[in-house]
Amino acid sequence: MSEILKIENISRSFKTGNRTLEILKGISLDIKAGEILAIAGPSGAGKSTLLHIMGLLDRPTSGRVLFRNKDLYALPGSEQARLRNSSFAFIFQFYHLIPELNILENILLPHMISNSILNWQIHRKALKAKAGKLIDKLGLSGRVFHKPNQLSGGEQQRVAIARALVTDPEVILCDEPTGNLDTNATMEIQNLISELNRQEGKTFIIVTHNENIARWSHRMIHLVDGQVTNNPDESCRDKSQ
Ligand code: ADP
Ligand code: MG
Repeated sequence: MSEILKIENISRSFKTGNRTLEILKGISLDIKAGEILAIAGPSGAGKSTLLHIMGLLDRPTSGRVLFRNKDLYALPGSEQARLRNSSFAFIFQFYHLIPELNILENILLPHMISNSILNWQIHRKALKAKAGKLIDKLGLSGRVFHKPNQLSGGEQQRVAIARALVTDPEVILCDEPTGNLDTNATMEIQNLISELNRQEGKTFIIVTHNENIARWSHRMIHLVDGQVTNNPDESCRDKSQ
């Protein structure tokens, strides 16, 4: 498998008052296209910060992130914005759906934001058809005109997954995607991610507390205190080859 993301010696620090907090301390990581990589680690370890840096939502203090050999943080802002909207997508623990919009509108939101009004009018029909296909695939057919608060947690997360997929991203970055779900809904979301990975070759990077993910991800790394810990057992069980 080819490499899709290469993290080279990333550091990230935050200044608070006159103190500098070093959150990520020299992280290097290669991620293959079509891989499901799980990132585990205690709260405060820097997992979300790392995920944000991988998907152009933050920037490293030093180090490089190469996406298909492009140095992401050396690109002009307009190119970063284009990649952020087209190649990456995020799924969060608390879904981040817009409560006033119905399910169809929530799913189409990334296209509404990134298109001009003219472009939106030209492509509206095709995009609605695409959203419709995703709605069917994710088992949300009876929910199109519901508002998010009329849905269960598992259904809301499926809407967030549909919203993530509607732009055809290559890399889907998930921050504790099942952290707020019961066991059944957790299994549903896991099966969905596995299926999307197998059928469409999407790359998933999943921050999780769920130890169960070790069974179905291809590889798992541990982040502790801003560093990837060496865990020889984990590197032996790379199933993505
Ligand atoms: P995790 O996702 O592993 O729980 P985070 O990446 O959210 O960890 O945060 C790691 C540490 O960085 C935490 O101590 C958090 O308070 C700190 N942190 C994250 N973002 C900022 C910020 N914008 N400013 C200051 N500190 C931050
Ligand atoms: Mg976090």
